[in-house]
This record gives sequence, structure tokens and C-alpha cells, in this order.
Amino acid sequence: MNLVQSISSLTVAKFGGTSVADFQAMLRCANIIKNDTNNRLVVVSASAGVTNYLVRLSQENVAVDEQKDIVENIRTIQVNITQHLAKDVASELNQEINSLLDELTQQALTQSLQFSRKTTDAILAFGEQLSSRVFTQVLQSINVAAEYFNVQQVMKTNSLYGKAVVDIKLLATQSAQLLVPKLHDKVIVTQGFIGQDSQGHTTTLGRGGSDYSAALLAEAINADNLSIWTDVEGIFTTDPRITDQARAIKEISFGEAAEMATFGAKILHPATLIPAMRCNIPVFVGSSKEPEKGGTQIKQKVDSNPTYRSIALRREQTLVTVKSPAMLHASGFLAKVFTVLAKHDLSVDLITTSEISVALTFDNPSGSTQSLITNAVVTELEQLCEVSVEHGLSLVAVIGNGLTSAKGIGQSIFQTINDINIRLICHGASANNICFLVAEADANSVVEKLHNSLFS
Ligand code: ASP
Ligand code: MG
Repeated sequence: MNLVQSISSLTVAKFGGTSVADFQAMLRCANIIKNDTNNRLVVVSASAGVTNYLVRLSQENVAVDEQKDIVENIRTIQVNITQHLAKDVASELNQEINSLLDELTQQALTQSLQFSRKTTDAILAFGEQLSSRVFTQVLQSINVAAEYFNVQQVMKTNSLYGKAVVDIKLLATQSAQLLVPKLHDKVIVTQGFIGQDSQGHTTTLGRGGSDYSAALLAEAINADNLSIWTDVEGIFTTDPRITDQARAIKEISFGEAAEMATFGAKILHPATLIPAMRCNIPVFVGSSKEPEKGGTQIKQKVDSNPTYRSIALRREQTLVTVKSPAMLHASGFLAKVFTVLAKHDLSVDLITTSEISVALTFDNPSGSTQSLITNAVVTELEQLCEVSVEHGLSLVAVIGNGLTSAKGIGQSIFQTINDINIRLICHGASANNICFLVAEADANSVVEKLHNSLFS
């Protein structure tokens, strides 16, 4: 039953950066809230571009002039929105923005004197702190009773800056006390991405973490629905930039969507579905630009469970092969390899093994300039075995249902691309996917061909 009794279907609505990028975008989102009174808790990202500016600002050795430019660029983004509001509202809001940006300037100065992960998170949090204040006023400007809420009152985390872990129990009890009572007669607007540790320091949940924040909040307040509003009309059969044959999926199961989020469909933060699945909260993904087009429903049970649902592509994969004759009939070899990887905080994606060698793949975070597999990692692994590292690979994941029990999977997938070198295949662990690696240069044409043959 709803904790908030005045409404039939309590919904948490999350708006991503492009949805709150400028005044027109915010206004569209405000109307989405106004048109469905079930939307009571709103979680926002920073306005598009702001977090990237803040990331730059938080780096070591940023010159004071550049710091000033960054702060001014952020001010411009926000003030371009507030100028569309009533004069008195705008002037009060601009004062708040200015004082936040003064604080930000101070933090940037602190960071340039002594760099720390703690200050980094304090800096990164300003984007959401600004956009949530501005969006509250945009809602009020179209007569929605809206109130700003500081998520740090409820989103308590550990002190792992940059990827803080949320205390889910505390989130539930704090939300019941401080947040739920407010939802009865108001729309509450709060921040994604940020939290607070037990000493009161600001933390962040990792880039793109607002989706995850929204899902955690939906779980905490026992919501009936979670809506993720973004700039695409839902989850597609594959990346529409690769083939114009890609189409939006109306309904998809949690299991399939989780595979897609993990294997490269950049639409949802991969952790988003964990709370949703745990509490069976259906998730809607749609475009705030064209809400009338509908979007994708992600839920536990869907009407159709096709063998092939979608194809995801993840670039910049690294393949590490470790080889040791000592592995033959020996136990504990893999444990040693994984201990080294764990020590370096490396998370393995795919694994295949042969008699004396094991191939492992790793996802390089996009945009990173250096390989995840550093010389230090290789040196340590070389104490145990021969090591080879290959770059320039892409991971193709075919996602669907019953892939471990259906017949002819291999043929229908691989005959279409029989002129391509397949570097590694992983199949069998999940009924929802079959993955393989191809050369970066082949990736787009592989996806296009597969999409044509599996979906047309
Ligand atoms: N603003 C943060 C980012 O850009 C969090 C988010 O948008 O989800 O990563
Ligand atoms: Mg996002």
C-alpha cells in the first residue's frame, strides 16, 4: 500500500541532464509533473554540461583564471534559465545561485591548495544542488506546489568518495520520517548523484548516478513507479546511431534490461535496476522532449519473451590472457590471479578458459586516456604466469530470452557474420545474453548485420 495515501500510484520522476539543460527543457519536464499528479518526488541531474565543468574544476593544478571561467560558465547556464522566471523570483534565486557559486569558488581554491577526493566530491555536488533549486522554481512558475529538499538528509553513505555506498536501511527510515510526510500535498524536488557521509561530508555515487539515486529513493518511499526521463524515447533494439533500423522497445523484463545496461546501452546507470528489481517497481524510460511518444516499460513480467530482444555494443574493451602450465590439474591458480585483480580494484567482465590459459575482458571507462591494465598489474600477474594484453576490441552482446535452452542460436548469430574474426565468445552463464569480442573496426558492421538478420 502507498505510504502516501492521497494518491493512487506514487511515482518518482527522474530528469537527466539534457532534460534540465535550459529553460525550455525544464518547462517541458515541469509540465510532465503537472500532467500526472502521481509524480510526487522529483530527482534531478545537474543541467547538461555542468558536471563536466565541475570535473575539470576539481582536478589538480587548475589555474585561478580557468577556475573563474568555469564558475562563470556554470553561472551562465543557470541564469539563462532563471531569466525566464518572474523578476522577483529570478532575483531571489540568482542570489542563491551566486552564494552557492561563491562556496564553489572557495572549494576550488581549497582543492588547488591541497587536492583531496573529499573536496572533489564537494565540488561535483554543486551541479545537482543548483539544478534542483532552479527546477523547483520552474515548477512553481506553472503553479505546481513544489518544495526543494536536500537529499543529504536521507542519502547517508560511507566515505568512499567518488563511489560512495548508500546505507539503504537508513535511507528508508530517514525518508519515512523526513520525506514521505511532505509528499502528501507537495511535489518534492531533490538531487540525484549526491549523498553525505557520517561526518557530514558530501559524497557522490559515481558518474551518471542520478538514475541510481532515484531508484533507491523509489525503494525507500515504497513508490509504485519510477520514471526515468531522458532524451531518447526509451530503450532501443540497438544504438540508433549504428543503424536506422533500430526501434524503441515497448516492454522489456528486468533481467534483459539489466544485461543491456551492463553491456553498453548507455541509457540507464547499470545499478538502477537493482533496487527496482528488489522491490518490483516498474521502471519507465522515455523522452522528456516527446513524452507523448511513450517509452519503454521495464518490469518483472512482460507479455512477450522473444529469443532476441536487442544488441548492445561496448567499445574499448581490453582482453588479458594469462597462461601458465602450472594451471594444468592445479588448484588455486585462478584465485591468485583474481587476488591481484581485486587488489587493483579491477572488475572482470567475461571469462573463458582452456587447459592452461584464461582469457579475461575488462571494460575501459569511456573517455579514459590510459588503460585500466597498468604496468603494475601486468608486472604482478607476470609473477604468476605469462600475460598478454590486447586492446582495440569491442564487445557485442546479443540480449534475449532462453538463450541457453533455445536451439540454433550459434547458427543464427554467427552465420550472418561469418566473414568476421570473432576473438572470444561467452555463452551459458546467463539465459539473457551471448557475448563476443570483435575488432573495433568491425564492430559497427557486425551490429548492423546482426540487427538486420535478427530483427527484420
Ligand atoms: N550529474 C552527474 C553526472 O553527470 C550525475 C547524473 O547526471 O546522473 O554524472
Ligand atoms: Mg545520466
